[in-house]
Amino acid sequence: MNFYSTNGQAPIATLEKAVVKGLAEDKGLYMPERIKNLPKEFYDNIENLSFQEIAYTVADAFFGEDVPAEDLKRIVYDTLAFDCPCVKVTDNIYSLELFHGPTLAFKDVGARFMARLLQFFLKKEGAGKVNVLVATSGDTGSAVANGFLGVEGIHVYVLYPKGKVSPIQECQFTTLGQNITAVEVDGVFDDCQALVKNAFIDADLKAHMQLTSANSINVARFLPQAFYYFYAYAQMKKKGLADQLVVCVPSGNFGNICSALFGKRMGLPVKRFIAANNANDVFFKYLQTGKYEPKASVQTIANAMDVGDPSNFARVYELYGKSHAAICANISGATYTDAQIAETIKEVKAETGYVCDPHGACGYRALKEGLKTGETGVFLETAHPAKFKDTVDRILGDDIEIPAKLQAFMKGTKQSVPMSKDFASFKEYLMAQ
Ligand SMILES: *Cc1c(COP(=O)(O)O)cnc(C)c1O
Repeated sequence: MNFYSTNGQAPIATLEKAVVKGLAEDKGLYMPERIKNLPKEFYDNIENLSFQEIAYTVADAFFGEDVPAEDLKRIVYDTLAFDCPCVKVTDNIYSLELFHGPTLAFKDVGARFMARLLQFFLKKEGAGKVNVLVATSGDTGSAVANGFLGVEGIHVYVLYPKGKVSPIQECQFTTLGQNITAVEVDGVFDDCQALVKNAFIDADLKAHMQLTSANSINVARFLPQAFYYFYAYAQMKKKGLADQLVVCVPSGNFGNICSALFGKRMGLPVKRFIAANNANDVFFKYLQTGKYEPKASVQTIANAMDVGDPSNFARVYELYGKSHAAICANISGATYTDAQIAETIKEVKAETGYVCDPHGACGYRALKEGLKTGETGVFLETAHPAKFKDTVDRILGDDIEIPAKLQAFMKGTKQSVPMSKDFASFKEYLMAQ
C-alpha cells in the first residue's frame, strides 16, 4: 500500500518510507491511498474472536501488502500481550481501559507496534542503526522508551524538561538503560522539541547518523490504535449493547480518535464519536464555527491533551474530504475546565466507586451529558489514575494505590545525560555517539 501526503506536494511513499521518515517532504502527514472495508462475516463473528485475532485482521488491511503474514502476526501478537477490558461504570456508560500495558497508558500499543515494524524493515534492508529522537512532556517518552526497549538496531534518545516531569513519569524512561538514553534538558518542553527539530534538519548529523521520530504523526504509531475500537465493539456486542454505540475519545493531538475514524471507514458499526477536550478547545471551536484556528496550548490537569494545534487534524480533515458538514455528521465535541474535570472525578467516584484519571474524566462527562435515549457509551480510559496520582489524590482526598508495574519502575536507578537547551551542545553530544 502506498501513502500520500495531506499537503499534496510530496512524492507518493511506500509503507517503509512512511514509517522510516515519519513526516512527508512537504511537512504533510502520510495517508494510506486506500482504506479497505472489512467483510461482513468479520463483523458478524467479531465477538467470538480474541483481541489479537481482531487486531491481526485490522493490521492486515493496512500492512498486509507490505509485511508477510507470519511477520505481521508476530508483530501484532507481541504488541498486544495484555487485555483492554470494557468495564461497566453506569447502566449505559462503559470504560474501555487502555492502561494495562507496560507504562499504563494507551500509547504503549502504537509505540510497541512501531518499534517492531521499524525493526522488520531494518532487518529486511540489512540497514545500519537507526536513532529515534523523541521530545516528551511525560507520557509519550515513557511509551516510546518502553516500546523500543531492547529492540536491536534502534537507539532511542528521550529529551525531557528537567524538573517539569512528575517523578512517576520520569522513572519510566530514565531507569531502563540498554538502548534507551534519557536526555535531561535544562529548559521547558518546547526547548526539547526545538532540539529534536533542529537535529532532523542538520546536515552534519544527517551524514553522521540515521535519525527518525516516533510521535503520532507516524503511520505505524497511530494506525494500530484502531485495534482498540474493534475490540471495544466486540466486547459490547457480546453484552448485546452494540446497536447504538457512541464512542468518546479524550483527545489532544487527535491521533487516537483519527484511528477510530479509520475504523468507521472500514465498516466498524459505531453510531457516532465524541472528541472530549480539556480547556484546549481548538477542535471544539472548529465544530461550532467551521474555522480551524490553532493557538498556544494552555496547561491543564489533563496535561497529555494540552495541545493547541493538533497535528492529526489534517488527517481527519482529509478523511472527510475537507467537509465540515461531513465531519460534524460523525463527530461531536466537548470541552471541560480543570474545575469541571475535578468535579467529574469526584462525582464518578462517589456515585459508582470508579476512579477516573483526568483524561478519562473528560470522556465520561461528555457521555453523561451527551448520550441520547437508547444509546450506550464507551469512553476511553487513556491512562491509569495512578499515573496522575498527585492530582487524583488531591481531588479525592485519597491515597490511591500504585500498581506493581509502576512501583517496579520507581525502584530503578535514574540515569540521564544533562543537556543545555542550546543546539550546539546537543549536536556535539550526538556527533560523539
Ligand atoms: C496522548 C494522550 C491523550 C491524547 O491522545 P491523542 O492521540 O494525542 O489525541 C489522552 N490521554 C492520555 C493519557 C494520553 O497520554
